[in-house]
Amino acid sequence: MKTVTEAQSLVLQYCQRLSSCEVAAAEALGLVLAEDVISDVDSPPHDKSVVDGFAVRTADFVEGKGRLEVIEIITAGSVPTKALSAGQTSQIMTGAPLPTGADAIVIVERSNLARGELAKLADLIELHEPKLKPGQNIMRRGIAMQQGEQVLASGTRLRAVELGILAEVGRTKIAVQRRPVVAVLATGDELVPPHCKPAAGKIRNSNGPLLVGMVREADAAPYDLGIALDTADSLREKIVTALANCDLLLLSGGVSAGVLDLVPTVLAELGVVEVFHQVSLKPGKPLWFGVYENDARRCLVFGLPGNPVSTFVSFTLFVRPVLDRLLGRPTLQPIIARLSKAHVCRGDRSTYWPSRLIGDEADATRQVEPLNWHGSGDLRTLLNANALAIFETAGEHPAGEEVPILRL
Ligand code: AMP
Ligand code: MG
Repeated sequence: MKTVTEAQSLVLQYCQRLSSCEVAAAEALGLVLAEDVISDVDSPPHDKSVVDGFAVRTADFVEGKGRLEVIEIITAGSVPTKALSAGQTSQIMTGAPLPTGADAIVIVERSNLARGELAKLADLIELHEPKLKPGQNIMRRGIAMQQGEQVLASGTRLRAVELGILAEVGRTKIAVQRRPVVAVLATGDELVPPHCKPAAGKIRNSNGPLLVGMVREADAAPYDLGIALDTADSLREKIVTALANCDLLLLSGGVSAGVLDLVPTVLAELGVVEVFHQVSLKPGKPLWFGVYENDARRCLVFGLPGNPVSTFVSFTLFVRPVLDRLLGRPTLQPIIARLSKAHVCRGDRSTYWPSRLIGDEADATRQVEPLNWHGSGDLRTLLNANALAIFETAGEHPAGEEVPILRL
């Protein structure tokens, strides 16, 4: 039986970054950037005022007070035309460029003018700013970004903030990774769709929505094939569709040792070549992995064990890294935490135990608490988990022991 690490590296041997395509930046939320982005501007583009107030020369102030002649009103979007000489000020609005000669801005609240009131040219303004310092209320040109500087790296997932930055540097079209298309097929005669009340002996298909959600969380595109019965015909029909259209096919159930566990046989019959079956992993031992290839495409096929937490753990350990590789970005690695309480592990397989990371993940004294989990059919306990604690050996693990954990 393969170890988790052996199985992971085998799977990754079949993965290459997918091609990129150009999309409108406005449509790119949640996609992964496939180019480095360089700024074509300084930000801000000029020394600018960050308040509404008066541009001044600090040298004109004595004991925090100045009485200055107004020579210009500078609004955002306009350009100052007058340099300040001794005894002069320009009224300036937030975002407007600093006039030559000025070295600070005094906010309007420290003047004899009301907020929103316009100064009169040639009037004298009284300013009172006891803590006036050169540079006060000025944002210097290029402090946030400089023209020619790289502001986003290839492999970055585009959130709202990245879309704002793309707009700021004038990028309306960008190269992104094509989203991997991932078929999801739940198998089992016992399954009914979530909107049905299960009859005796039946359960609702929770793995389907779980996997579709995990695919979306990984920034890939799910292709939900619903439920197949435990018959060769039913499986064949759905699998053929997936192999013809998708980068990955995730099946749940039907890969254990039951009499109706037909998935490996049907996959083989349809030309999917087995790479491995079974991993020394708890939960998730029955995992099946194979590859389908023809001249046009390659589809990686995962037969995930049917118990929901086995499905979840196998996706996290094997499918998520594949999707990250296809999208050209690094995958999350385990970190170390100390057990907050003793934990007993049975069996000889690597165990990935639903757990709760306590405290800041950046804190070196972080602790992890293994949850009171009832095994691979207990999806509910995952509601409280934010990590999987990894136990490589059986027996008692004392409180305080350092264990690797995978954050969820
Ligand atoms: P299997 O791997 O098909 O033997 O299924 C193992 C266990 O997982 C059985 O108790 C199934 O009822 C359960 N199971 C299989 N598929 C699903 C599913 N889609 N949703 C929820 N539970 C499932
Ligand atoms: Mg089954």
